[in-house]
Amino acid sequence: MMEMTLLKDIKQYTKEWKASLRDRLNGQAATIYIIQIGDNEASNRYVRNKIKDCEEVGIEAICIKLPAEVTTEDVQEVMVKNYMADPEAAMMVQLPVPAHIDLDKVIAAIPEKGDVDGMKPLSKFKPCTPLGIMKYLEHCEYDLPGKNVTIIGRSDIVGKPLAQMMTDADATVTLCHSKTKSLWLHVETADLIVSAVGKRGILNCYAIHKPVIDVGINFDENGKLCGDCINTEGRDVTPVPGGVGLLTRCALLENIVRMVEER
Ligand code: NAP
Repeated sequence: MMEMTLLKDIKQYTKEWKASLRDRLNGQAATIYIIQIGDNEASNRYVRNKIKDCEEVGIEAICIKLPAEVTTEDVQEVMVKNYMADPEAAMMVQLPVPAHIDLDKVIAAIPEKGDVDGMKPLSKFKPCTPLGIMKYLEHCEYDLPGKNVTIIGRSDIVGKPLAQMMTDADATVTLCHSKTKSLWLHVETADLIVSAVGKRGILNCYAIHKPVIDVGINFDENGKLCGDCINTEGRDVTPVPGGVGLLTRCALLENIVRMVEER
């Protein structure tokens, strides 16, 4: 018997989450600077969404869009100037950045207490996608202790921090990647699967009767947004779009409100 646990309405959940954040903020001033480098179409869309989300909760979001040719030093200078002008504000860098930019140096210029995207190695804020997933599992009353979780993808922003957070929540985590042999074996023995690869079809859910959190963002042959999973009909798989992306967006707001509460 399939355990149907993840098919709650994520849109409704994030609506309620935002309403509670607005209540928690209660009119207190909150600002985030979003540093965007270049004119990537997907980044433009993500930034627009972030600004809209912030407005809904009562947070001021200011995008500082720098030309693609800017140097790492120029970016750092802009960030430091902003920090000096508004030390209480949050700051994040919209990814991806152009290849010539030294991302580590740019991340180093993010003020510690304003690192609401959890980009710095020892940030006190959790990275937004894993945080959003953990909050959603909590909302679903998914019982993690003792569960076998297979995470596919070991990036620093999703797979690795999520593995840490789930381990801390007493799950037994297997972290898979491109060198993993017999991936299906780890999928087969899991109670819960997370796919964060970015390859459509990495999981064929036709034969998978387990809950799956689909983090992947891909485009199908018709240019339509889709996740890593295929054959999801009737399966317990979070949707793409309308799934983890919404949770990630809310988790950023959660971190900004936490920053305000702790200052
Ligand atoms: P990433 O840096 O793109 O890395 C992909 C990971 O997948 C790597 O760990 C890679 O292994 C692994 N991988 C590649 N091919 C594989 C295979 N055949 N079998 C098993 N593992 C394989 O990861 P990311 O930044 O976490 O992004 C992953 C996906 O999630 C992307 O589609 C991204 O757009 C999406 N994403 C969505 C959100 C959201 O809010 N919805 C947020 C973040 C990311 P190696 O380490 O061995 O190379």
